[in-house]
Amino acid sequence: MLKLKDKWSDKVINIDQTKEFDFYLCGPDVYDHIHVGNARPIITYDILIRLLKELNIKYKYVHNITDVADKIINAAKQLGTTESELSEKYYNHYVEMFNRLNLIKPTVMPRVTDNINAIIKFVEEQLKKGTAYRTPNAVMFSANHIPNPRSYHQYTAYDLEEELEEYNKYKKDPRDFTLWRNTSDGDNWKSPWGNGRPGWHTECAFFVYHYFNGKTITMHSGGIDLEFPHHMCENAQFEGMTHHTMAEIWNYVGHIHIDGEKMSKSLKNTVTALDFINQYSTNALKYIMFSSNKEDTVNFTKELTNKAVDFSNKLKKYTPSNSVNETNKKLIIESLCNNLDIKTAFKVFEKALENNTLSTWEINLFGFTH
Ligand SMILES: [Zn+2]
Repeated sequence: MLKLKDKWSDKVINIDQTKEFDFYLCGPDVYDHIHVGNARPIITYDILIRLLKELNIKYKYVHNITDVADKIINAAKQLGTTESELSEKYYNHYVEMFNRLNLIKPTVMPRVTDNINAIIKFVEEQLKKGTAYRTPNAVMFSANHIPNPRSYHQYTAYDLEEELEEYNKYKKDPRDFTLWRNTSDGDNWKSPWGNGRPGWHTECAFFVYHYFNGKTITMHSGGIDLEFPHHMCENAQFEGMTHHTMAEIWNYVGHIHIDGEKMSKSLKNTVTALDFINQYSTNALKYIMFSSNKEDTVNFTKELTNKAVDFSNKLKKYTPSNSVNETNKKLIIESLCNNLDIKTAFKVFEKALENNTLSTWEINLFGFTH
């Protein structure tokens, strides 16, 4: 029985294996090479997809591409290129990374710029429902109008101060956030409220609503930083539209550290996934990801990288058997069914490699290349 933990309620949920597993994973802003932190969710939840296939559970996996955002506008300005050229380049890079990392592709990878008109309609619907209101330069979500507040109590504790002051000043409530921003900075589209573009939280709320027909999905995931404000603001819109919660399970992966420090552009310690796999290997990167619990911080150190390289070399030389060791299989499936306990399952893998009992079944289930 597959069980997954919902972080929001802290409850373990039993998955109905006869139903489709509806999964949404927030994707990246495409303006640069992805770093190892961006690779963590897609590598981690790739194991979930492989497990669903193994258990014959039908699934739908939606993973959005943010190709309009402040970061993209700023990067395009700095590089003297257009946003569409820049985002196209790094969208292609991202798709290529799915191949290089040997990951199962999502069922759909929708891009924001391909869906602007539908997103405008989604915002119009929220205005009609009364869960949004217009200001002189935006359409804002109205936090006062969440009908069925599963996330409400968590979300009320916060003030959404990250919004730009020009939008902030017209808010009726500190918890309100922009669904649509009127702006002429960067690419913008015509809307009933003026030229502009959707707010960040709008796109994912729309994609979940659209691709899963307004139903509560099985699981929504991403990096832990997305829990607030992004996921709570997505869920608030969805509840406003449908009067039910967006996801049964909210499940996250932890941070990435480099030698004990948070990875960030300002510290100049960012490691791209491409550089890492070119220097070492895809298998070495996966080894590092699978050596920690998915909620914990992964700390990239020289020592861990050396271990990962040894593992990768050993696996390369190994000749796997075609017959599956049933004890290994049982232990691995049991661990993965226990809230995707990849760390424990991977220990079984490593032991099997040591004892020469590893087969192609385990190699495929973990998505290693061989
Ligand atoms: Zn999202």
